[in-house]
Amino acid sequence: MAAILNNKEKEYLFGKIRDVYDFPKPGIIFKDITTLLNDKDAFNFLINHLVQRYETFDFEFITGIESRGFIFGAALAAKLNRAFVPIRKPKKLPYTTISEKYSLEYGIDEIEMHIDAFSTAKQNPPKVLLVDDLIATGGTATAAVRLLRKIDVECIEACFLINLKSLKGDLEIAKTTPVYSVLEVF
Ligand code: AMP
Repeated sequence: MAAILNNKEKEYLFGKIRDVYDFPKPGIIFKDITTLLNDKDAFNFLINHLVQRYETFDFEFITGIESRGFIFGAALAAKLNRAFVPIRKPKKLPYTTISEKYSLEYGIDEIEMHIDAFSTAKQNPPKVLLVDDLIATGGTATAAVRLLRKIDVECIEACFLINLKSLKGDLEIAKTTPVYSVLEVF
């Protein structure tokens, strides 16, 4: 069975994440993971847990969502000897891109990926693990899965450090993709 943490381990990691009130705007409790990264034992513990969970899964690539998904995704990719693909905000990637739009509370946002990001894949279709630090409404991660689908890439699981359960984003993405959250906030 795929590895999950016990309650004591979850409490340990929770204790390393800082709540910042009213950032970036009033009413939002921002989950600041820099305090976890700043603690080498906690960061190492988290990455080792993800290594344990994913070392037996069948996939060639990890895709991380800008920007905190890069930190966890790239660290995990290096440890698991998988390739890493960044999914970025518009106009950041230098080569030809494909993009996907998604709705925000007010307005729309967009994510992009290089068109040839999976050209080294040996599997057909290429299989990827999607990583981000947090799932809130699920808009970003669901758009990332759609973006991957556009070029026939299969997302084998979407992995988050934190899941803000009350926003039900996990239910949205779970319609198409297995979801794993290390920690859940109710
Ligand atoms: P969503 O598309 O609503 O699921 O939002 C997810 C993205 O927004 C992730 O990339 C998170 O890093 C960021 N995010 C949303 N809410 C928070 C929060 N309360 N604390 C930290 N990051 C957040």
